[in-house]
Amino acid sequence: MLKVKDLSVYYGVIQATKEINFDVQEGEIVSLIGANGAGKSTVLKAISGLHRPKSGEILFNDRPIQKDSTRKIVQLGISQVPEGRHVFKGMTVMENLEMGAFLRKDKSEIQKDLKMVFDRFPVLEERKKQDTATLSGGEQQMVAMGRALMSRPKLLLLDEPSMGLAPLFIKEIFNIIQMINNQGTTVLLIEQNAKVALEIAHRGYVLETGKVVQTGTGKELLASDEVQKAYLGG
Ligand code: ATP
Repeated sequence: MLKVKDLSVYYGVIQATKEINFDVQEGEIVSLIGANGAGKSTVLKAISGLHRPKSGEILFNDRPIQKDSTRKIVQLGISQVPEGRHVFKGMTVMENLEMGAFLRKDKSEIQKDLKMVFDRFPVLEERKKQDTATLSGGEQQMVAMGRALMSRPKLLLLDEPSMGLAPLFIKEIFNIIQMINNQGTTVLLIEQNAKVALEIAHRGYVLETGKVVQTGTGKELLASDEVQKAYLGG
């Protein structure tokens, strides 16, 4: 579904990713893990059209998208869930969710999807009229995920969903990610919390200073000595 080929992205003279290669097959959860500054967020920004790569290719269902606008990329079926704190504060939960569907015109289908989001995140229905700024970090993360789902993505990009959340919330959010995947959405997840990210991943890639240094199934990476030492405190 997604193929990233020899992707190099720069910020001025700083090279953030160095000829990265990886792919995501339809139906998978793929996790990219790595320390601070490894280049994970940069990869997501390049895929969603927020930062142009200098070289390399990003193919979505065989179509090169690295020069497409973010709007076009969303229309093709890729939606990014930013960290939970990037929800629209000063707007209600409902307004945030409606923003996720702003490129769609199919009103009755939008209503169905709103119901689907409330089924997955019942707390959001309870708080639909509440200003998003008043929600907890975990609830804001749910708003961010719900908003992305409102665009009916084929591929969901998740940026550090565990960031700043208490362990109980992390568990809940990751259960929901698995459920969304089981219901047919392909997921690319970037995380510093390697343990939770690899536990739910079909496959994973380890990034270090802008390069892929290791790959395998989630289970293989969890069991690997290098990953244990570098990311799991083992
Ligand atoms: P984190 O989890 O801390 O966000 P990351 O793995 O997502 O880390 P990136 O944010 O992609 O890493 O950063 C990769 C490299 O690019 C780092 O060396 C970082 O300092 C640099 N970088 C990121 N954003 C910018 C920017 N806007 N301007 C200059 N350098 C940047």
